[in-house]
Amino acid sequence: LIVPCYNEAQNVDAFYDRCLQVFEPAEFEVIFVNDGSKDDTYKKLQHLHEEYSNVLVVNFSRNFGKEAAIYAGLHYATGTYLSIIDADLQQDPEIVKHMTEILEKKPDVDVVAAYQKQRHEGKFMAWCKDHFYRFINRLSEVDLRENASDFRTFRRNVQEALLDMPEYFRFSKGLFSWVGFETEYIPYVAAERFAGTTKWSFAKLIKYAMEGVISFSTMPLQLATFCGALVSVFAIVYG
Ligand code: UDP
Ligand code: MG
Repeated sequence: LIVPCYNEAQNVDAFYDRCLQVFEPAEFEVIFVNDGSKDDTYKKLQHLHEEYSNVLVVNFSRNFGKEAAIYAGLHYATGTYLSIIDADLQQDPEIVKHMTEILEKKPDVDVVAAYQKQRHEGKFMAWCKDHFYRFINRLSEVDLRENASDFRTFRRNVQEALLDMPEYFRFSKGLFSWVGFETEYIPYVAAERFAGTTKWSFAKLIKYAMEGVISFSTMPLQLATFCGALVSVFAIVYG
């Protein structure tokens, strides 16, 4: 399990305990990536690492964002199946178990991705997200499944493909779609956060959405070229 953590000191112990309830100790490994937390997350993770041999900790020098944390986790993960999951227990490790069972049963499926059946958010937010998916699916060659996040379990071939992409800005949803592979989608209901608050403000989400569009579509570039040409024509005529 690859677990990006930013200020999750109150959650990491509970997260690991939940894993112990779901998996046998020899069956899993957790790679916590401390993404420059300002609270005691790193200290808590060090304790977990000292106590349990299947806990690995990657520590960032500052906050680089969830996407960078996922990338670092992918570098260190050695499991047969890899899973990306949040530290706040909104996504139950039990679902990961179910995902691995699907991979075990179906050799032709390489990725099992979970999507949220219903979202616990306001109408405005739901509207924004809905339109973001429509917009990016129309503009870019990647096809994003609505409400599917990076909560997924996949095989090593997918890990290798993701690591092969040295993107500076990593828009996971897009990267997963870009590398392809047979993907099965399963619905899940996100639980309430165990402790703490979300790290995504509306402004951060807008920035993220814009970077996603720029990374996976040349439309903004074409628009800039077109506007530049138009201004040049006007300037020549005026001159
Ligand atoms: N996260 C991170 N770096 C960041 C922001 C978030 O590693 O800069 C982690 C966070 O600790 C959590 C996961 O990404 O494990 C999802 O974040 P959050 O729960 O705040 O997002 P939400 O569930 O509200 O979409
Ligand atoms: Mg969360």
